Amino acid sequence: MALGGFHSVLYVLQKARGAGGLRAMWKAMRSPNACKTCALGMGGQQGGMVNESGKFPEFCKKSVQAMAADMQGAITKEFFEKYTLSQLSAMSSRELEAVGRITFPLFAGPLDMHYKPISWKEAIAKVTEKVSKTDPSNSFYYCSGRSSNEAGFLLQLMARVRGTNNINNCSFYCHQASGVGLASVTGSGTATVTLEDLSKSDLVFLIGCNPTSNHPRLLKTLLDLRRRGGKVIVINPLVEPGLQKFNVPSDVRSLFFGSKISDMYVQPNIGGDQALLLGMLKWLEEHSAIDETFVSQYADGFDDVRNQANETNWDVIEQHSGVSQKVIAEISRIYRESNAAVFCWAMGVTHVKGGVDTVRAIGNAAIARGMLGKEGAGLLPLRGHSNVQGMGSMGVAPMLKGPMAEAIEKELEITLPLPTEGGDTMWCMQEADKGNMKYAMCLGGNLAMANPNTTFSQKAMSKIDLVSYMSTKLNQGHFVGRGAETIIFPVLARDEESQITTQESMFNFVRRSSGGTPRHNGPRSEVEVLVSIAEKGIGTIEWSRYRDHSVVRELIAKCLRGFKTKKEHQIEGRTFHEPKFSTTTGKAQAHVIALHAPAEISSNQLRLMTIRSEGQFNTVVYEEEDVFRKQTRRDVVLMNEQDISAFGVQVDSFVTVAGPSGTLVVQVKAYPIAKGNCAMYYPEANILLSTKVDDESKTPFFKGEVVAIKKN
Ligand code: SF4
Repeated sequence: MALGGFHSVLYVLQKARGAGGLRAMWKAMRSPNACKTCALGMGGQQGGMVNESGKFPEFCKKSVQAMAADMQGAITKEFFEKYTLSQLSAMSSRELEAVGRITFPLFAGPLDMHYKPISWKEAIAKVTEKVSKTDPSNSFYYCSGRSSNEAGFLLQLMARVRGTNNINNCSFYCHQASGVGLASVTGSGTATVTLEDLSKSDLVFLIGCNPTSNHPRLLKTLLDLRRRGGKVIVINPLVEPGLQKFNVPSDVRSLFFGSKISDMYVQPNIGGDQALLLGMLKWLEEHSAIDETFVSQYADGFDDVRNQANETNWDVIEQHSGVSQKVIAEISRIYRESNAAVFCWAMGVTHVKGGVDTVRAIGNAAIARGMLGKEGAGLLPLRGHSNVQGMGSMGVAPMLKGPMAEAIEKELEITLPLPTEGGDTMWCMQEADKGNMKYAMCLGGNLAMANPNTTFSQKAMSKIDLVSYMSTKLNQGHFVGRGAETIIFPVLARDEESQITTQESMFNFVRRSSGGTPRHNGPRSEVEVLVSIAEKGIGTIEWSRYRDHSVVRELIAKCLRGFKTKKEHQIEGRTFHEPKFSTTTGKAQAHVIALHAPAEISSNQLRLMTIRSEGQFNTVVYEEEDVFRKQTRRDVVLMNEQDISAFGVQVDSFVTVAGPSGTLVVQVKAYPIAKGNCAMYYPEANILLSTKVDDESKTPFFKGEVVAIKKN
């Protein structure tokens, strides 16, 4: 049975009805604003539901869910009087998301049982006083991918001017490995392709990703590719039924009859894709299928990579990857026939130990066949939140790129106080746990719940004197991620802003959102809140100028190469159709990788991957049911049937899953996942995970840690 289709259509209609009717939803979705959800990028000045190729209508359940949530009514003061903090802490993500919009600032102190309304003046005064009294090194600034470029740029600027580089965005817990890996291959940490390239490719690899749930409109692109004779190869330890067959709602034939999506579905071990990619190189080398012209003229270091492939035995490749030589040969054969291949990947790659090297291994595979610097071919990390890439471009990172730092200093005639690198997200949390963080500013997001070892993150946040959030709606982090004091500033959604804001898609396209009418009195623009705090004594900058978003954009344009102030645009120099790279030699860089063996497991152990469900976006759970994987509850462990029988447990029985940091009692479900591996829902399963991070990306191991399964 195919997925999506009429179920999705019905769901959208129901959501629209619940959000004030079809007409209201249509109007909201068509407004000239960027989609609030994933970074595939829809909407903007061509109107909502238009993609970067100008195609209409392009929308999905996810975009409707996010819009419907923002169209909810206001949470009343009585709500906060009625429910205590501990009662609200016990509510699920879904319950909190459905409570409504926050419309007045909220405060909770150490002795408070409830969040209490507080005036804007008082809330801003509390934050400014804390910022001015805190040694900057004892503070950190965190940003999610929901905010605008303008707000992100101001956040990092005010933090640096105040004197700290402890600035990070949510990418440390998602795609940081992509940025680090890509920068070492092409000289730029972002995609090398545009959306148009996908319509010219004849082969797409989907490695460790599930666009069915997370980037739904990509399915139509894949459907079109297959209809013109192209192929799709999926590499994922877990079968995603929607990547096998899908009813694409915007295509009548597909809606009624379903469409095959993948030509090959390969299930490596968690983390086994690294060895699989090396195996592909080995096969290409053994079959004289390397593009020798490309590797000699446009790449450095390929001979070392070739040697690594030659010297690595097939036994090692099979053992590490969990995939047979025969299957790797079949993938490689298809790849050899391709004239234009795009490699897509997501957190199945970046959440695993050695994720940066896996991204480099993907780069090696692309270099081997000359799949960089030409139309229809290249590298495409599938980013999550709609503006997470923009946050990186805006310098919301511990270390500013040299040219941006120099430009800021020149334009503002200031000296940025700390030239050294600041703390990544986990480092900041560890410092908080040691009692070294006194203030934290969270621009969106749900930091506490996004962390591995949620027990640790809750404890760490509680040791911070003051935590301030800027949010549109409630989430679990507002309760389990409280400091000694906590303030929540209610902010406008991007389609409610009174001025234009900008966002950047995963294709490096900067989209302009026109904003619109606020749905409620009370919430303010994030830029307004940041300026109100900064102008009360952070540095000597004339902050009030930046209330005008166009002035912020002018400053950004002076500091970021390729950013333009007037029109929607592709950021220059990142996507390219000629083999000219932004590396020091101008060539692509091939890398010998440190081949990681998947974690060893004993008789009652499995490697765990945390996964998101179809009705979920990051930590926000819209529906408890995971329609695509046919799961009706979230407290489950998905196991291979052979493991279930070897462990002597029964399907639907309850087991205790013990990870490095905690345990969870969950129900066993049989699922087509590679033997020796299991899957559980994020963020609930975070409680099991350690706080260890990858050496290069500083990303925790949301996938690949070992858990023990114990019968109850
Ligand atoms: S695929 Fe992503 S960008 Fe496109 S409509 Fe859906 S959520 Fe929005």
